[in-house]
Amino acid sequence: MTDAYIGYDPTLIALSLLVAVTASLAGFYLAARVRTSQGLARKLWWAGGSLVMGLGIWSTHFIGTRAAPVTADLPRDLLPTLVSLTFGVLTSAFALAIVQTRMLGACKMLLGGSVMGVGIALLHYVGIGALHVGGATSYDPLLFMLSIVIAVSGSMGALWLSFRLKLEKGSRISLWKIGSSALVMGVAIAGMVYTAVAAVELPQQGAALQIGATVPDRLAFTIAFVAIGIMLIVLMLSVYDAHLASNNARLAASLRKANYELKALVSRDPLTRLPNRLLLEERLDALLARGGRGPEKEFAVFFVDLDRFKTINDSLGHHIGDELIQQVAARLKVAVRNSDMLARVGGDEFMIVSAENTDKASSAMIAQRIVSSLGKAFQIDDNLIRITTSVGISRYPADGDDKHALMIHADAAMYFAKDAGRNMFKFFESGMISMTEKRARLESRLRDAIDNDALTLAYQPKVNVITGEIAGVEALLRWHDAELGQVTPDEIIPVAEETGLILPIGEWVLKTACQQSMDWHAQGYPLLKMAVNLSAIQLNNRNFVEVVKRVLKETQLPPHCLELELTESAIMQNPDRASMILRRLRKLGIALSIDDFGTGYSNLSQLKRFPISCLKIDRSFTSGVNSDIQDAAIVKAVVALAHSLNLEVVAEGIETQEQLAFIREIKGQQYQGYLCSKALSSEDFQAFLKARFPVNV
Ligand code: C2E
Ligand code: CA
Ligand code: CA
Repeated sequence: MTDAYIGYDPTLIALSLLVAVTASLAGFYLAARVRTSQGLARKLWWAGGSLVMGLGIWSTHFIGTRAAPVTADLPRDLLPTLVSLTFGVLTSAFALAIVQTRMLGACKMLLGGSVMGVGIALLHYVGIGALHVGGATSYDPLLFMLSIVIAVSGSMGALWLSFRLKLEKGSRISLWKIGSSALVMGVAIAGMVYTAVAAVELPQQGAALQIGATVPDRLAFTIAFVAIGIMLIVLMLSVYDAHLASNNARLAASLRKANYELKALVSRDPLTRLPNRLLLEERLDALLARGGRGPEKEFAVFFVDLDRFKTINDSLGHHIGDELIQQVAARLKVAVRNSDMLARVGGDEFMIVSAENTDKASSAMIAQRIVSSLGKAFQIDDNLIRITTSVGISRYPADGDDKHALMIHADAAMYFAKDAGRNMFKFFESGMISMTEKRARLESRLRDAIDNDALTLAYQPKVNVITGEIAGVEALLRWHDAELGQVTPDEIIPVAEETGLILPIGEWVLKTACQQSMDWHAQGYPLLKMAVNLSAIQLNNRNFVEVVKRVLKETQLPPHCLELELTESAIMQNPDRASMILRRLRKLGIALSIDDFGTGYSNLSQLKRFPISCLKIDRSFTSGVNSDIQDAAIVKAVVALAHSLNLEVVAEGIETQEQLAFIREIKGQQYQGYLCSKALSSEDFQAFLKARFPVNV
């Protein structure tokens, strides 16, 4: 009987244990919520979690004190009760904060566990201090110490368990693990509470006993159920929120993946799988973001451009062009270092950003390696293709401190390499920039000139070497621009070829020249054979033969009065195709001649394949015939060979009587040059004609 009175209330013990376990469970779940949420949600979970856990620990303490025979059922003051509860909340807040940190070192576990243990002990002893026990409360010092030790080690255990559970973040936390952890924790909390309760010594033990043991403890039950209810609700909320969050996380993850794939797609060149301009600029941004100067911050930007790729692509077809680009990319990969970024930034343009060991000498070495490596022949299908490459280099910080400056300057240097003869590399130098600008301006002015009919033709006679009669006339492009002044064909044609403007320009030249010949004829002069220069791009254009036919039809010029001048290299770019086109033109009755002979392949046996009627020997040879034995020998040999192939010969650039005499002696048939006349405007040429053919008009 007495035992029952003196003993603890088993129902309340069980209840307090249940509350402690629920509080621990809530603690672990809430820690995970705080950890995985962000912003306001994180703060709310932290605050709410601290409140609920604090309430749980406090309830365990409260019910524990009610279960004990010594402390049960005594009136309490509100203030110490609130202070006690506050300690519970603060301790929980502290615990939740600690669990959010990255790692749990021994130091953190010791210190954090001590603070938490002391917090819980304070909760308890302040709570017990609120008891009116009818005299000073005294404690059994051993049990008091033991309770603190249990509180501290229990807290450390809680931290440790919490960190272990945290590690299983990726996979879903197993219910079993979290449940058993909560059980261990709950027992520890309850153990601490009961040790502390046992530590209290009351002066008048008997007084409290009967009441406490006989009346069912309503207050303890109410508090237990309210606390468990609140904790369960919050637990459910946290589980539901975790579920939502994991769904969101999964969604975000798949979005991230899709984004990543998309980015990989848009930042790679599909043909070569190399990074594209986008990625290259990102790399430049990253390098520039390092800021500062000094040798380790230096880097170099290479602009690599294949010379005359467009003509290969146009003549051999896109399939070959694509294959060539792939092979070029493969060679470039070998030529640069692993740490360098190689990107394809345009049809035949590549850029390299090299951030390692980028002094001028090693940059030059890389560039030379690129030029040499791409200079070796490419085998594609049955074609052996040779290309050359021009490389421009700009360096940070010497040549610019933003990415656009560096890219433009590398580009400008590349153009200088091209202008200096191609197949080489150049470092950027100040002053080069005007070059690129000039080129861009030229292009835009040229477009305007086409639109505004600002282009004109000049005409230079071809003269019979023996009789001095006019054998024909060559149309030469002229452009006087209000801003740029006189722009020579040698400046116009490369830009026009690169931009494709050569097609409209070429058609205009053809039509204007044919019309001009007819116009002069209509004025009573003899119908002159009109020679028009062709670019390789025109020749390789699908519609070219149709264009020629149409022009002849529109202008009514008889086909045998039209002569087309082509360079050897234009024909040799795609000999098979050229041969076919030339045959069709020849069939129409049009005369074909090889321009600038001697400067290209100079392969007469090759030229036999083509329906050519005339060779024009380049001015660089004829100008030296009287002073340079070798030039004289070459010109003599070319004329002899041309005769044997039944080709006519036109000597270009004859400026002196001596030169003419030489040509006459070796039996060249025609000449062209200042000796007879410069290229003249339409009006001047008409005056020139009038002096020679006095017509009755
Ligand atoms: P080309 O076909 O060899 O034209 C001859 C060039 O030599 C012309 O220069 C002409 O003015 C120049 N010339 C003629 N006789 C003499 C001489 O006795 N002494 C000197 N020093 N020069 C002489 P131009 O007009 O500057 O043309 C340069 C090149 O531009 C042409 O070389 C031709 O390849 C190209 N070109 C000109 N007009 C056209 C065109 O309408 N279409 C195409 N595709 N190319 C053109
Ligand atoms: Ca010509
Ligand atoms: Ca020529």
